Amino acid sequence: MFDKSKDLFNQSQRLIPGGVNSPVRAFRAVGGTPIFFEKGAGAYLWDVDGNRYIDYVGSWGPAILGHAHPDVVTAVQRAAVNGLSFGAPTAAEYAMAEQICALVPSIEQVRLVSSGTEATMSAIRLARGATGRKKLLKFEGCYHGHADSLLVKAGSGALTFGNPSSAGVPPEVAADTVVIAYHDLAALEATFTAIGKELACVIIEPIAGNMNFVKPSHAYMHRLRELCTTHGALLIFDEVMTGFRVGLGGAQAHFGITPDLTTLGKVIGGGMPVGAFGGKRDIMANMAPIGAVYQAGTLSGNPVAVAAGLKTLALIQQPGFYEELSATTTALCEKLSAAAAAAGCAFSAASLGGMFGVYFSANLPTNYAEVMQSDRDRFNRFFHGMLAKGVYLAPSAFEAGFVSKAHTAADIDATAQRASEVFATLV
Ligand SMILES: *Cc1c(COP(=O)(O)O)cnc(C)c1O
Repeated sequence: MFDKSKDLFNQSQRLIPGGVNSPVRAFRAVGGTPIFFEKGAGAYLWDVDGNRYIDYVGSWGPAILGHAHPDVVTAVQRAAVNGLSFGAPTAAEYAMAEQICALVPSIEQVRLVSSGTEATMSAIRLARGATGRKKLLKFEGCYHGHADSLLVKAGSGALTFGNPSSAGVPPEVAADTVVIAYHDLAALEATFTAIGKELACVIIEPIAGNMNFVKPSHAYMHRLRELCTTHGALLIFDEVMTGFRVGLGGAQAHFGITPDLTTLGKVIGGGMPVGAFGGKRDIMANMAPIGAVYQAGTLSGNPVAVAAGLKTLALIQQPGFYEELSATTTALCEKLSAAAAAAGCAFSAASLGGMFGVYFSANLPTNYAEVMQSDRDRFNRFFHGMLAKGVYLAPSAFEAGFVSKAHTAADIDATAQRASEVFATLV
């Protein structure tokens, strides 16, 4: 069933470390051979062996419209014939800034970059430059890209490998990164009491999607905002995953919180490399060329990538878009839960907008420690069972899942039907 993928993986391992260009893709957490894809359209992916899958990874979030949406593809083609890159400003970048600032009111000024990693790395540098402070606070299990100072107890691939930090990060670089438990109010209070005045910033996934899917309480998030304000620490919402994914205004609209800085990525590029960071005008005024914080990029605001992003942002603003996306995602979670219950398999699921989490534990986890207690072996068997039946899930128990506008009720029913067959084999 996976012969060509296996051959390609064997070949790739000779020239590419681990055969992949991003670690989680290697299937190490779930075992087996990664699938090599050839084509995507709407809710489906086709691999090199000709197998079709209903896709719940969506390129890890960007594919909110489904794969190869015709309007986005057309926008990319039109931009491409006019030149792939100028390294100079374009009108499309202004249009993109206008869209982002209109949709996320906490962002008064924004700068485009080419990845989420660049966005968070730059936001941290900006926070340090703007406050003149060094320390940053992050939370266990949150992933903010692979910049040195952020690779401390990070989620996603770093979690999957049980290898929370990384070799090659000098201890002095990580020394100013303080890590505490996610969604733990007492730890938060104690940390601010101890070092609140030394913190340049707090960076958080306002809804965590890199330790599976964990939604903190409103009370916790509002107290975090209050503590940052009181102590003069900038609050950075890393919405690279949640931005335009859990709703049009991101997680900050869900909580009704105004962060000082926001990082974006994934959906805003519509499948092309675009990231962004932005926030309060007086903070952004610290950026070069008007301020002293340096940041740059040869391909920043790339015209082809921005064309994909702009078209994606236009399409997600169609009336009813998020209502429909949420309804589809909720239906998926409910039907999977019902199928698991019928099979007598301990299982729970949760979602917001087009983002969801499934857990092999009876109760929804509310923090990292609880996520770690879910049954990983069962997840892995579920993953492979679903894969064999043509459903592509993230190859790790510690990743969120994504539904697109292209997923239909029939896709959800087919997924639930196949899941019920797989659940029956797990217990
Ligand atoms: C994906 C992700 C990043 C990193 O983005 P890249 O484009 O992979 O560099 C940062 N933060 C969060 C919350 C993410 O989900």
